[in-house]
Amino acid sequence: RLIVEDLAHRFPGTDLLFEHLSFTVQPGSTVAICGPSGCGKSTLLSILAGWERPYAGQVRREGIIRTGWVFQNPYGVADRSALDHAVFPLLAKGMTRSQAEPQALEAMGLFDLEYAADRRFSDLSGGEAQRLMLARAVCSHPDMLLVDEPTAQLDTRTAHSVSHVLGNLAGQGMIVLVATHDPDTRDACGRIIDLAHYAPREGEGVQEA
Ligand code: ATP
Ligand code: MG
Repeated sequence: RLIVEDLAHRFPGTDLLFEHLSFTVQPGSTVAICGPSGCGKSTLLSILAGWERPYAGQVRREGIIRTGWVFQNPYGVADRSALDHAVFPLLAKGMTRSQAEPQALEAMGLFDLEYAADRRFSDLSGGEAQRLMLARAVCSHPDMLLVDEPTAQLDTRTAHSVSHVLGNLAGQGMIVLVATHDPDTRDACGRIIDLAHYAPREGEGVQEA
């Protein structure tokens, strides 16, 4: 499980983004991280991943060995196929291509993407590339999956189906945290953490030392 204790963050020379943030997430839960642009959603995900050191408080990742991440902007290798991208983390874990392909295709299927398996990454639409990043992250079965704005590039219908898939991933015992503005995605998650509630109050800012 993931335990966050009295977390606060600010970048050097900036004001606090959030403070007194505490929560626990059990395996098999999907949590939406909400709040206005700039409130620190992406930053919180980086802290949970262990990439950014929090200003105060701590993050404990009990039993979380593998963390998957889907960035706000999809990235890939232009002339490699969608399937090449999806199998990559499985090959990196030591699977053979023939073991990895069915698993990767199944994950692509969750996001209605099998039809694009042989397309070059550079030919994918923004939404297809985003769904490919989700499929790739899911097929390596991380203990914790951190997803940043998964529906930003999707049309309403696709966004709805992606939200639904994300909401159901927790059923496989994963911890899924999704930073999002999208009310549809938020509603598909079992739980909501609104960072606006943890914004520092007026006049309570930390004084510069
Ligand atoms: P959005 O909804 O637009 O994606 P967000 O809630 O994800 O916003 P963050 O990306 O976490 O917001 O950024 C929070 C704030 O911290 C922003 O004002 C941003 O400019 C600032 N910030 C992010 N990274 C750094 C950094 N390395 N140094 C200084 N400030 C930063
Ligand atoms: Mg962000």
